[in-house]
Amino acid sequence: MKECPRCKGETRIMVKSPVGDAWEVYVCNTCSYSWRSTETPNILPQFTLNDEKIANMQIIPPIPPLKK
Ligand SMILES: [Zn+2]
Repeated sequence: MKECPRCKGETRIMVKSPVGDAWEVYVCNTCSYSWRSTETPNILPQFTLNDEKIANMQIIPPIPPLKK
């Protein structure tokens, strides 16, 4: 399987083209980066990820409960 272009993690095939063998979409098991086989991913160095960067990511602010 292909190596993730963003974090070098393991990837899997997420979906294949419904007709013929035109394309496949791959998704990374670690960072969820996905791309189509017809693309050539080009991740700029400042946007690559590793375990340390992922561990230090900020948490998405939670949505407060609805007011009653
Ligand atoms: Zn990845």
